[in-house]
Amino acid sequence: MSSSYGGTSAFDRLRARLDGSALACEECGFVDDAGEWEAVTTGGTVEYRRECPSCGTEHVHRYRL
Ligand SMILES: [Zn+2]
Repeated sequence: MSSSYGGTSAFDRLRARLDGSALACEECGFVDDAGEWEAVTTGGTVEYRRECPSCGTEHVHRYRL
């Protein structure tokens, strides 16, 4: 967890929303409780990516900032 921002950022709010959503893989049903979303920003869009450790399916959630 980065402390460079200090407070609650838009990233944190989005990440919290993702963490609260179902982590069960849509393909194989594996529940990855310890899964971490990798945030990638491109212009006005942020992508959260997570790869299922069981079957390798990549899940992507994209939001506009
Ligand atoms: Zn899977």
